[in-house]
Order: sequence, then C-alpha cells, then structure tokens
Amino acid sequence: MGWFNPPYTIRTWAVFLEKAAKEVAEGRAGILVGLVPKDDSGEHIGQLFSENAYRIELSRQLPFFKKATKKKGVVCAHVVETIRGNQLVVFGKGGKTRRFLERLVDELHALGFITADQLRHYQEQYALAPRLQNDEPKDPPVPPAPSGPPPRSPQSGTVGGGEDTSPKPRKRKAAPAANSKTGIAWATETVNPFKGCSKVSPECKHCYAVGWAARHQAQGSRGYAGTVKDKTFTGTIGVVPEVVDKLRLVTSERVFVNSMSDTFHAKVSDADVRAVFDAMTANPSDSQFLVCTKRADRMAAFSQGYVIPDKVWCGVTVGCRESLHRLDDLRRVKAKIRWVSVEPLLEEIDIEPWLADGTVNWVVVGGESGPHHRPMDKAWAEKIARACQKHNVPFFFKQWSARTPKKDVEYPPTIDGRVWQQYPVMPK
Ligand code: SF4
Repeated sequence: MGWFNPPYTIRTWAVFLEKAAKEVAEGRAGILVGLVPKDDSGEHIGQLFSENAYRIELSRQLPFFKKATKKKGVVCAHVVETIRGNQLVVFGKGGKTRRFLERLVDELHALGFITADQLRHYQEQYALAPRLQNDEPKDPPVPPAPSGPPPRSPQSGTVGGGEDTSPKPRKRKAAPAANSKTGIAWATETVNPFKGCSKVSPECKHCYAVGWAARHQAQGSRGYAGTVKDKTFTGTIGVVPEVVDKLRLVTSERVFVNSMSDTFHAKVSDADVRAVFDAMTANPSDSQFLVCTKRADRMAAFSQGYVIPDKVWCGVTVGCRESLHRLDDLRRVKAKIRWVSVEPLLEEIDIEPWLADGTVNWVVVGGESGPHHRPMDKAWAEKIARACQKHNVPFFFKQWSARTPKKDVEYPPTIDGRVWQQYPVMPK
C-alpha cells in the first residue's frame, strides 16, 4: 500500500500518475484512489489514464479533505482540492479492485455524487456488478408527484413554432420525493419477478435491462441463468416465485412491475402471468401497480378472462409509428387505467385518435438516455403534450434525450415553461 499526495498542478500530474501505476503494478499498493482535476491534457497523462486507471467523473464537487482516510488496508485515498471539476481516478487490478469499484460507485450514487445514469454507465463500462439486493439502481430524489395540473406558472410557449427546438441546458434542483426507491421518475418502486426478455421493436435497441441481466447472470443471481448470451437476450425467461410473492406485501405509491422484462413475453406461462396478477390483486395496501408491455395483444387477450383490479394500470410502449398498433390492442384491454409509455420517443407520432376515444388515460413521454441515445426532437414531445391538453389526458414528461438527461440537459424537462408530472385521477 502506498500513499501519494497528488501534486496540484497539471504539469506534475504525469509524475504522480506514473508513480501510482508503478506502485500498483509492482504489488506495493493494493488500490489507489485520487481525486483529480477533470483534465486529461497532455498525451502522456491521457495514455496513463486510459491504460491504468478507472475514472469516475463526479457531477458535483467533493469536499476538500486535508486528511486521507483508509479502510481495512484496502484503500489508499488522497483527496485534493481541484479547480477544473472532479474525477476520481482509481488504480488497481483484479477482483479486489473490481469489488471496491462496485461499492464505490454505489456509495457515490447513494451520496448524490453520480446520477443513476452515470451509475449504470460505469457499471457497464467497467463490467461492475450491480447491487444484488435490488434490481435497479437508486437515483437522486425526484420531484414530488402532483396530480392534476402542474403547479408552475405557465410562460409563453412556442409549441410547434419556428424557434430553436433543442432542449436548453438548464438544470433545476429536484425536490425530494417521499420514499422513492427507483430512478424511474414516474414510479416509486420496482419489483421484478421475471428475468430476461427479447428485443421486439425499435424501442428495444439499447435496452438497459440486457446489461443488468448479464451481470446478474455472471453473479449467479436467481432466475438469470441462460437469459443473456453474446450481450443480447436469449429469450429465456426466469421466474422467481419469492419475488412474485413480494407483490402481495409491497407498500409503495406506484410499483412498476417487471421493469427489466416484459410481463406478457411469449415465454412466460399463463400460470405465471396469472400468479403476478393474483399477487397484485391480493395486496391489501393502497399501492398502485404499473404494468407496461410491448406484447399488447397478449395483454388484451389476458384481460378478457381476468378481472384486473383498478389499482393495476395496464400500459403499452409506443415510441415510433410502427408500434402504434399496440394502441389498438390497448383499446381491448379491460382495465380502468390504460396508459402509454412513449419511451424512447424516436420519431414524430400521432396518438391523438387513442386519446380522443378514451383508450388512453395517461401518457408518459421521454427521450432515450445512455451513450448511444437517439435524438428526440422537442416538437415531437410538444405535439403529444398538446394532444393530451386538448383531450384532458394526464401527461408526464420524463426527460429529454441525452447521455445523462438528469445531468446534461434541462431536468426535470419543461414544455411551455412547465414541468409536466401529472397522473391519472384514480377512480372512486
Ligand atoms: S421489451 Fe423491454 S425489457 Fe424486453 S428487450 Fe424490449 S426494452 Fe428490453
């Protein structure tokens, strides 16, 4: 183990980095952590970084520590004040370093130094296992969930107008939400009894669930065996009965069920679909359950022979024109709340006919995130917002398209100067 005092100036950074890398390579240091300026200037430094270090860019400044800390002989950490933005640089090799990184990114996320999207990004980039006690990462607090019209005062809007339609890089501090355990802004918890899926339409192209499933599979987590091969879903679905049972007891405002799979996937047996709905039905709490599928025809058929309780909201994904047919299937779904997840919105679509005829009770719109996010035109989202206003359908605008929407662009996003986070009015 070694201790380093990283020099303050960029000119001497190369010396520190070389020394750190050498210590680790020669086994004299286990893991070295440095908080360094976000500046890779200089070919030499860039090479050292890319070849020897894990780097984690922080979305806000860490406090200045005069003293380094160490825990159980694992970490040698020096934290220095920086002037160009922060990134943590970690030197180390092997499983020990990997396990340390897994804990580190989790803790950074829990403390708000990296967002949920960044957490996912680093877990993917460095092949880190997610926390296994929870399928889905926590996120910084999201704004409270108003029902009815948004509270912010409207400003003059230019929906569909000729002005600049790109999202403005403004950031808004989110107010804390009560008891939210998920980064999905419109839900408060996720429960995933089914594991695995298969891609079925353009919205699935960059499905984040694949990476999570691959890591769980590698860790031997229950239900994930055989779900992923060559970085893609195999179509094998694992079912974990204990998680099905969790639906009987969970208490949370809006529970998103199977956020990492598809409840109506063809490989899921009728008995397992029924078990999930039985569990939600039996739950005695006031929890609402949100189911969303891309296998809308099966959901419609299922609902003909099952009394879906009002607390189960049945939704379909429609992010492009070729998926609009799912709204016709949704029309046949026997459920009180029927909704559409327009995520990721990939092109201009017209859902107004299904708003006008009462098929859809709630609309969620969001752009794609991640390193390969596809762009979303502002006008596409505005068009849907306008249609929802016209037909008095609650509208939830989740995010613009960006690598990390909560960090890179306006968040929460606005249309007409307003944050749109409406929910369906629950039936009496
Ligand atoms: S249906 Fe959902 S979980 Fe399945 S591949 Fe598509 S995006 Fe992923």
